[in-house]
Amino acid sequence: MTVEPRQSTVWNYAPAPEATDHLRLRDRYGLFIDGAFREPAEGRHEPTINPATEEPIAEIAWAGPADVARALEVARSAQPRWAALPDRERGKYLFRIARLIQERARELAVCETLDGGKPLRESRDVDVPLAAAHFFHYAGWADKLRYGVAAREVAPLGVVAQIVPWNFPLLMAAWKLAPALACGNTAILKPAETTPLTALLLAEICQEAELPPGVVAILPGDGQVGATLVRSPGLDKVAFTGSTAVGRDIQGALAGRGVELTLELGGKSANIVFEDAALDQAVEGIVNGIFFNQGHVCCAGSRLLVQESVMDEVIAKLWARMARLRVGDPLDKNTDVGAINSAEQLARIEALVAAGEAEGAVRRSLACDLPEHGYWFPPTLFTDVAPAHRIAVEEIFGPVVSVLSFRTQAEAIQKANNSRYGLAAGIWTDKGAKAFEVASALRAGVVWQNTYNHFDPTAAFGGYKESGFGREGGPAGLRPYLRVVRSP
Ligand code: NAP
Ligand code: MG
Repeated sequence: MTVEPRQSTVWNYAPAPEATDHLRLRDRYGLFIDGAFREPAEGRHEPTINPATEEPIAEIAWAGPADVARALEVARSAQPRWAALPDRERGKYLFRIARLIQERARELAVCETLDGGKPLRESRDVDVPLAAAHFFHYAGWADKLRYGVAAREVAPLGVVAQIVPWNFPLLMAAWKLAPALACGNTAILKPAETTPLTALLLAEICQEAELPPGVVAILPGDGQVGATLVRSPGLDKVAFTGSTAVGRDIQGALAGRGVELTLELGGKSANIVFEDAALDQAVEGIVNGIFFNQGHVCCAGSRLLVQESVMDEVIAKLWARMARLRVGDPLDKNTDVGAINSAEQLARIEALVAAGEAEGAVRRSLACDLPEHGYWFPPTLFTDVAPAHRIAVEEIFGPVVSVLSFRTQAEAIQKANNSRYGLAAGIWTDKGAKAFEVASALRAGVVWQNTYNHFDPTAAFGGYKESGFGREGGPAGLRPYLRVVRSP
């Protein structure tokens, strides 16, 4: 491995930490069931910690089987009343939630950063505004559902279980809850073990919005809570975002039960740079594609495919740009790359990076002064990567990019599609026709042209192959929460 020194020693920013004294955090959070925070039946609480300091933030109730059963019962009895509200009334509640997210935006952003380790700049400018935007978007759909499904009469599915990961805790909760509620379902959300905090603040927001009790339940806990939930009777649908392994387990648990399922799973997305691309712009996109949220992004551009003729130039520009990334305190407004979400995730990244070195790829990691406590991994670039190397095949889910080369357009397409995943891809070229040709040949749910990691509530997101099935966002995101009653 070569660890290269920072090049940007001339200009240094003064620390710019975001204040935390405005937070109204409780010491302890209960389970959110039937419109109120409640003690778990088995009384279990666990701390949620800040991965940048390893310090506890709050005690969080963990749901047990009795709590799951209670939440399901309440969701079942609340569902017909929720679905029977005039569509526009349901929409009003979602508009209220969206506005309350905006009102509490600063607090939500700081909590997201404290609990998960992502830079404040991202939670403030991406996670929280997009979460509000999703509620606004689906609030607007609540009284237009039939137009979202080709003018057919539709009905809600009933009670839905929603399980989300730790990389975008609030945003994933919004992606799940907003369409489910707009369609007249009631929902039980299981946040990830390491990042339950903003989902619990969202529960407070549901209370402030006077959402009818039972429409939303939030059940924190570990994977066992999720496993219990999906195996419980009385469910009409499961929506899951997380790893392919757990997605497969859930699919097995639901087989033959008539429960609807959508899966948003992992990825190993190709970011393809052609020789005719605007290279400086492409380098910005490569950096955003893999170092955004420490690479804890299911659609991260983790396989960089560069046309051979511009390989040296792209790598030189990329490394120079990487040297300017600021790694450290996620609460600092100048930080680009924050803390790794958990000790487990750090161990996974380290193991895959070690495999990359052992298999003969060339590693370059940024030299950074990392804090003494917390979980950190420096932005890392692998060159001389062969398509069969583990770092070219497996999802690393960290700030590590594996670079492969190609000579022709056909080879780029072949290499990009050579993956068991198919979540996203990026194409960098000045030729519009080439971008369209390549995009239509890629087996990926989302293809970005001359940009990367660009999200919008109006656009559908989802995968092919082992990246899962079903779409979230836009009108397509309504379909998994509706049943077609009658065609026109
Ligand atoms: P994970 O282990 O699959 O966890 C996801 C969620 O499922 C968590 O809430 C987890 O609880 C829960 N869970 C764990 N075991 C379960 C079980 N047997 N039954 C039901 N639920 C269970 O994934 P992760 O490692 O936390 O997250 C990273 C993965 O998610 C990556 O592979 C990434 O690509 C994928 N992801 C995909 C998308 C997408 O939109 N396609 C978005 C984000 C992330 P605990 O937290 O307690 O384990
Ligand atoms: Mg945490």
